[in-house]
Amino acid sequence: MNKTILITGGAGFIGSHVVREFVNKYPAYRIVNLDALTYAGNLENLKDIEDKPNYTFVKADITDAKHIMEVFQEYQPDGVIHLAAESHVDRSITDPSAFVMTNVIGTVNLLNAAREIWKDNYEGKRFHHVSTDEVYGTLGETGLFTEETAYDPHSPYSASKASSDHFVRAYQDTYGLPVVLTNCSNNYGPNHFPEKLIPLCIHNILNTKPLPIYGDGKFTRDWLFVIDHAKAIDLVFHQGKNGQSYNVGGFNEWQNIDLVKELCKQMDEKLGRPAGTAAELITFVKDRPGHDLRYAIDATKINQELGYKPSVTFEQGLSITIDWFLANQEWLDNVTSGEYQSYYAKQYN
Ligand code: NAD
Repeated sequence: MNKTILITGGAGFIGSHVVREFVNKYPAYRIVNLDALTYAGNLENLKDIEDKPNYTFVKADITDAKHIMEVFQEYQPDGVIHLAAESHVDRSITDPSAFVMTNVIGTVNLLNAAREIWKDNYEGKRFHHVSTDEVYGTLGETGLFTEETAYDPHSPYSASKASSDHFVRAYQDTYGLPVVLTNCSNNYGPNHFPEKLIPLCIHNILNTKPLPIYGDGKFTRDWLFVIDHAKAIDLVFHQGKNGQSYNVGGFNEWQNIDLVKELCKQMDEKLGRPAGTAAELITFVKDRPGHDLRYAIDATKINQELGYKPSVTFEQGLSITIDWFLANQEWLDNVTSGEYQSYYAKQYN
């Protein structure tokens, strides 16, 4: 093995796709997946690669500074790709402290461990922080977030991610730690936890339950297929410039209501049901507090500097995603039993 790459949050939604991409594409790298296995972490997501010789899993909590330092000392990573986070805006509204602990303190613990084992000799080393477009706040009806857009987070989730981004940049500015950042738009795809809009609607259509849409459904998000995000992370990790941020997106904006209608249309077709069956389940619910109206990414920099392009259109990606959920209903049943039930009842009933 010529390099060790430590990926945090590798049992989660996006992290599992990043781990798979790296394990399969770089057999000469040792890939260490560090994850605490919270409700969002699921090793089932990695069943197909768990026996590969270049893959190792370590259960660790990034809020535990001592344990994190021990893991870094044992594995001596050359690179870190940091995805572990509390990631759900609604949960951040009910319990902000968990977001501060994992997203802010956890990130600082990782930065300290990287600095310590690299001992200020940064040749060939890199810390890649994976973040979100939500740090930029909200847009009106026009305009796009660029890498120069000022941070203006509104939810406890986005405030914690913005804070972690600042710490990552501060470690570059203060200690010279070689960092890169990516700020990506909303992801969707296989293994997506069904508290988020698309998998939640797929799950509810399968169970003939209401499809809850916040407010008037006009909230607009920019959506990227998760495997295209994993490929962007690979590109930036290997070819991005130190100290730089790259916005990642597909120039693919959808109002929530239009997205759910497209999803309903595809679900009816795939399930052989009359057109309009799933859409009858659409139910408007009370808006979440501090809800940002519109996010949209200007991905020109990553496109032009690194030649990045998403591989699928939204309609194709959505079709692949639905097919995956239909073929993996046991996965869906497993993650929606237990804690999910009480979370769902509190959130929507
Ligand atoms: P996720 O919630 O699906 O997965 C998070 C993973 O982190 C889980 O495996 C969980 O077990 C692990 N984790 C949580 N707390 C931990 C801790 N204290 N120590 C160790 N591991 C811990 O999240 P995701 O949607 O895959 O997002 C991954 C990253 O990408 C996050 O940093 C998120 O902010 C960012 N991001 C997500 C999106 C999106 O649309 N989902 C978009 C842009 C950026």
